[in-house]
Amino acid sequence: MRDALSEGPLIYDLSMEDLTTALAAWGEPAYRARQIWHSLYRQLRSSPEEMSDLSIALRGRLAQSFRFSSLTALDSLRSKDGETEKLLLGLASGHQIETVLMRYERRRTACISTQAGCAMGCPFCATGQMGLQRNLSSGEIVEQVLLLARRLSQEEEHLTNVVLMGMGEPFHNYEASLQAIARLNDPQGFGFGARRFTISTVGLVPMIERFTRERHQVNLAVSLHAATDELRDRLVPINRRYPLSRLIPACRTYVEHTRRRITFEWALIQGVNDGADQSQALAKLIAGMNCHVNLIPLNPTRGYEGQGATRARAEAFRDVLKRRGIPCTIRVRRGVDIQAGCGQLATEHSR
Ligand code: SAH
Ligand code: SF4
Repeated sequence: MRDALSEGPLIYDLSMEDLTTALAAWGEPAYRARQIWHSLYRQLRSSPEEMSDLSIALRGRLAQSFRFSSLTALDSLRSKDGETEKLLLGLASGHQIETVLMRYERRRTACISTQAGCAMGCPFCATGQMGLQRNLSSGEIVEQVLLLARRLSQEEEHLTNVVLMGMGEPFHNYEASLQAIARLNDPQGFGFGARRFTISTVGLVPMIERFTRERHQVNLAVSLHAATDELRDRLVPINRRYPLSRLIPACRTYVEHTRRRITFEWALIQGVNDGADQSQALAKLIAGMNCHVNLIPLNPTRGYEGQGATRARAEAFRDVLKRRGIPCTIRVRRGVDIQAGCGQLATEHSR
């Protein structure tokens, strides 16, 4: 609590260079910054008090000059099977975000937020229903991962994957999202391989193009949900600005330039986008692309009357894609009992 109230920048907002500069200004040698970086990102220390290899004076100065925590756990829920754990976190600004830890076989996946709320307004999404409150800083994104990593390390486990699929649209907060990934990727620090991150975007075409140009090794998922503009305009309002005629070529260019497989996300909504008209249109739209389709039955939310597709409809949809040679998986709705769908816990809490 004291940390959250203390003044100064959040330490996780600093790059290694920033930290080096700050310590040099205090007359500290360059190796001191590396030492602190190592404490934070390797040893997963969460405050200067824990950095017993530093002098008491330096620990005190660090504590006075930086904040070491911006997130306060307000609530946590564990799914009945115990595999999915969801944290509702309060930011210093009073906003709330969600961070989810999913355990599946050997995978330990952190699902993190990039914004409080979201401006994109997808009607079926609990986060979309609340509108954009604010962007998270890179440090606030980083801290979510550290929080889960520390928790797992107590059980002698570690994270294997990080997905930017919590609250918010990562490409609407592009710089902070990619800076957070770069900071966690640093081999001198947290050392989390780029290929173990996945960014999910609603389809902001200029940012997909930028991401392609920058040649990141990070995985890309695009939330499609509809294969015709008429339907996508309704489910994903940003489609009116970046219709499929722009989105799909941007995805094809990404695949060609990076030689990486792209993932398409599709929330199956009973009677809306789960029929043969859409599966056939989708198969045509993405034919020949190195891709994978994830079908996820919709998690119902308070602000939207649609329901998740039945198993039978999901299988029929998948079979259409499979017959056309498109790799496709039906994802089980992990943690539905704890509203693990994006934004749902925060919505419940604020009621
Ligand atoms: N804004 C980004 C990432 C966050 S949303 C995006 O839209 O891709 C992460 C995923 O959850 C997206 O594929 C989104 O469409 C999906 N989603 C949102 N609400 C959902 C719900 N109620 N049921 C199932 N999936 C949902
Ligand atoms: Fe935003 Fe993604 Fe939700 Fe759409 S689905 S409102 S882009 S968080």
